[in-house]
Amino acid sequence: MMCLSATRTRAEETPVQVIRSPRQYPVIVIGSGAAGGMAAWNLTQQGIPVVLLDAGTKFDRSKYWTHVTPWEHRARTARGEKEYNFFLDTHEQPYLTQEGRPFSLARVWGHGGKTNVWGRVSLRYSEMDFQGPARDGWEIPWPIGYRDIAPYYDKVEELIGVYGGSDDSDALPGSAFLLPAPAPRCAERLLMRTGATLQMPIVAGRRANMTKSVRGFPPCHYCGKCGRGCDTASFFCSADHLLPFALATKKLEIRSNVVAARILVDDKGLARGVQYFDRQSGREQRVQGKVIVLAASCVDSTRILLNSTSTAHPNGLGNSSDVIGRYLCEQIRLNVKGYMPALFGSGYKQDYGADGEHIYMPRFNHRVPHTRDYLRGFGMQFWGSASTGGGVPFFGRTIPGFGAALKAECTGRYPGWVELHPFGEVLPYAHNRITVDPAKTDRYGVPLLKIDYRIGENERKMTEHMADAVEELAKAAGVELVDYRRGELDAMGSAIHEHATCRMGADPKRSALNRFNQMHDVKNLFVVDGSSFTTASEKNPTLTILALSWRATDYLAEEMKKSNL
Ligand SMILES: Cc1cc2nc3c(=O)[nH]c(=O)nc-3n(C[C@H](O)[C@H](O)[C@H](O)COP(=O)(O)OP(=O)(O)OC[C@H]3O[C@@H](n4cnc5c(N)ncnc54)[C@H](O)[C@@H]3O)c2cc1C
Ligand code: SF4
Repeated sequence: MMCLSATRTRAEETPVQVIRSPRQYPVIVIGSGAAGGMAAWNLTQQGIPVVLLDAGTKFDRSKYWTHVTPWEHRARTARGEKEYNFFLDTHEQPYLTQEGRPFSLARVWGHGGKTNVWGRVSLRYSEMDFQGPARDGWEIPWPIGYRDIAPYYDKVEELIGVYGGSDDSDALPGSAFLLPAPAPRCAERLLMRTGATLQMPIVAGRRANMTKSVRGFPPCHYCGKCGRGCDTASFFCSADHLLPFALATKKLEIRSNVVAARILVDDKGLARGVQYFDRQSGREQRVQGKVIVLAASCVDSTRILLNSTSTAHPNGLGNSSDVIGRYLCEQIRLNVKGYMPALFGSGYKQDYGADGEHIYMPRFNHRVPHTRDYLRGFGMQFWGSASTGGGVPFFGRTIPGFGAALKAECTGRYPGWVELHPFGEVLPYAHNRITVDPAKTDRYGVPLLKIDYRIGENERKMTEHMADAVEELAKAAGVELVDYRRGELDAMGSAIHEHATCRMGADPKRSALNRFNQMHDVKNLFVVDGSSFTTASEKNPTLTILALSWRATDYLAEEMKKSNL
């Protein structure tokens, strides 16, 4: 029996036609980004039929402005044309924040989700990351360790194509499955050399750009425009590298432009279906399934769970522990720019590379002489350092003058362009929270999500250390900082790495999911996106999301084969 007790749907308020799907699908997956794409791919490879609900549709590659020159860009803009926009408009789907505490939320609704535009930095969590909370006692421990996930990191890296080097450390575990890394550029080499002298080792970057052909996809041609989508699908995007393969099994049905609102339960409180709204017509529909895999991204999955109230789950679906929505965490970030005068005029060439940095500084603050009085740590990215795509536009805006002299100054500086971006872990705090506001609803009558987020003393101490590290590295490498304001953090949320609002853990009283991303309270519901993480770590999460989703759906497939689900 299907029920939506204790929840007033728009259908109950207005005479909207409700079409009940007669079919019960073995699995419903919600979302097709890294988490949902992987779930759909893995289950269909194993012969399990899946219906995938996605709030958007496939992005139209023919409309990308990937190889549009700056002057053509200007001409098109002057003609009133707009660059292809992947991001969800807040007019269509607003979100709320606490007064005085802004949070910058990026959402991509469409096949592949944010993997259409992501930065592709792909770093394995280390044992140190998984053991962090157990070691320092801040919040609950992860129920898994590196050993549990390592085989999945291997498989994911092989499947999606991640480049990297031969380094292997306690902060960033090595891998035998990496593609060749692009060579560091001149300024990056100088930073690497300097980092070594300061005992802050800088290694080859690890990113999901295919520096060799992978599964028939052409290698990257180093145009450096990944942020606009890739013409040749040479970086990992779920819509290119997972969904077509899942469709080829004939086991996948995709329903596009459908916005999941609530998960429906039966009288035992088990998940039995999804209520969704057609994004264009607003029409309400429902689909039934035996198992549901929720992968709408951390914030949207949390919203769906909190809106799925019923008699059995009055506090939101699977939320008897009251942890769902709490412990929202990601990373704080500094964004420092500068250039190396020593490299002025050393030669201008096309050096976009694989878009952004070719190097990475793993966490080092756990080693003497860098230890300090705060928990967890930070790593450092270098974004557009020495890349033609990085410095030139910035210099163009900041250097006075015009014409040939301005051009000479910009191009002279470009080889020494440096960007320093430490990413530091934010602790999971119960008060950092996503809730839903029944008084404020979207165009379908579904309560909006509200984010309340602030950092604490630990993050302030870490920010000081991040600023010290930036200044020390810059000074030793001969980098002149431009427009520098010490310790000025990027807007909260701008790391775009939300985690932990439906966390996994061994204790059902303090966590929502078990070690296989399965809900403690609702056995036939799995949550596989970043909301399932116990902590954030200083690293970008997508590689780990992919690995966890693969692992969770392997477990799910086994349970289905044993008729446990
Ligand atoms: C500019 C940018 C740079 C980034 N750089 C990096 C990086 O370098 N490294 C890294 O690891 N990560 C990076 N990220 C983050 C990375 O993109 C995400 O971690 C990853 O995409 C999360 O995967 P996901 O499946 O959880 O969510 P998403 O990729 O956001 O996918 C969510 C899916 O759910 C669907 N959906 C949402 N709501 C609903 C609903 N109500 N009903 C139905 N479907 C719904 C969406 O359409 C989408 O298909 C970056 C992100 C951005 C935007
Ligand atoms: S740099 Fe490589 S991966 Fe990025 S858009 Fe260009 S070809 Fe694609």
